[in-house]
Amino acid sequence: MMQTKTESKTTLPKEGNFSEWYSEILKRAEILDIRYPVKGVYVWYPYGFRLRNIIYTILRSLMDKEHEEVLFPMLIPKDELMKEEQHIKGFEAEVFWVTKGGCTDLDIPLALRPTSETAIYPVFKVWIRSHRDLPLRIYQIVNTFRYETKHTRPLIRLREITSFKEAHTAHANRTDAEEQVRTAMAIYQNFFDLLDVPYIITRRPAWDKFPGADYTLAFDTLMPDGRTMQIGTIHLLGESFARTFDIKYEDKDGSLQYVNQTCYGISERCVASVISIHGDEHGLVLPPKVAPIQVVIVPIVFSSQEGGGEVNKACAAVYEELEKAGIRALLDDSEERPGAKYYRWEMKGVPLRIEIGPRDLRNNSCVFVRRDDSNKAQVPLRDVTQEAKRTLEEIQSCIQERASKTLFANIYESKGNDAGSEEEMITLKKKVEQGIVSLFLCDSERCGKDLEERLEASVLGEPIYEVQEKSEGKCIICSSKARRVYVARAY
Ligand SMILES: [Zn+2]
Repeated sequence: MMQTKTESKTTLPKEGNFSEWYSEILKRAEILDIRYPVKGVYVWYPYGFRLRNIIYTILRSLMDKEHEEVLFPMLIPKDELMKEEQHIKGFEAEVFWVTKGGCTDLDIPLALRPTSETAIYPVFKVWIRSHRDLPLRIYQIVNTFRYETKHTRPLIRLREITSFKEAHTAHANRTDAEEQVRTAMAIYQNFFDLLDVPYIITRRPAWDKFPGADYTLAFDTLMPDGRTMQIGTIHLLGESFARTFDIKYEDKDGSLQYVNQTCYGISERCVASVISIHGDEHGLVLPPKVAPIQVVIVPIVFSSQEGGGEVNKACAAVYEELEKAGIRALLDDSEERPGAKYYRWEMKGVPLRIEIGPRDLRNNSCVFVRRDDSNKAQVPLRDVTQEAKRTLEEIQSCIQERASKTLFANIYESKGNDAGSEEEMITLKKKVEQGIVSLFLCDSERCGKDLEERLEASVLGEPIYEVQEKSEGKCIICSSKARRVYVARAY
């Protein structure tokens, strides 16, 4: 194994202790090594990278139905990056600059992409000529760089985001671009459902939208410490970037029109959410669809014991059968004691363990142990593949159900009857420490900022889907007409 030190085999409490739990899990399950000597920059371990790759293979397969994958350069010339005024205002404090080539100062400094609009759109201008070139839908999965000054955290707040999936689309008109926003939303819903990660979708307040966008939709999930984490965003850019970068097409009638654009992104926070939401005091709990190892087979034999050869043979046969059926299986026939093996594979979140000992073999059976609820079941050897498939599906949906219940149980809905009263504020302040609160707020930035200050939380925005008892009421701050918004302490 990667780590040579003997690990302490104590459990890791998660409740009330999330931050420490998170760092320990990344290390013990070998997801990410945080010892790289640059702040906010980390190393993927092989096991973590396999998990990351399975998750991104799912994302790719969803994207590939409608988009084409591309790869743009990491370096962006300063004059291009500075072109879009709103956009650069949003990013300039976070840009890393390359200013020298060897010992020579560069004529034009180069930015390490903080995001790729200004790398891609000058090329869109060249690629798009006619209405026949539209819609143009591309994506790439790349690293991006942001000089984060806040406390950095592996997979969550990074100076090098290693796995940024960014999609960029161009359309003939706003109707088509808005349709694309809905498509992107459906893709993201599908994606996070496969990860068993529950989410809320909101339209971010105007003061918090993506710099340069008309509006921003965001996916947030709830972390175990009661804070929300943004795990995906979708932006309707409208014509703003098209005007800046002069991206026009010739319409059917020969006139020149600006394209209408969207962009949307997901980072390795999707991996962070899978780890954080499902894990427990014994380690990771991975949904079968993303688990690098779905089933581990452990022979219960001790070298001195008779019948060990038969047990090992039976385990090897089960392993082959599962692999043939397309299940990612592993046969752990190492010299370690079974207890040490249990500990390791529980820590790594393997959804299902199959144990076979001499007594099981005499009964032509084996034992299934589920990672998510520790339940054990005796299974006849002849049914092993069929039962493994069924159990993995069951685990996938149980994990989903549990996670989703937790999220929605932690949304507190203010009735808005005593809007703005001190008493209501005290209740909301208490509730927002545990999760999300839903309340009435008008569109003004002043009310939003005032509320954020009083609750020490962020306005996530107006929910897109969830059915609300009442969607219109009085602003909690100024009492004017308002809509429901979600508020939470956010990562
Ligand atoms: Zn107001």
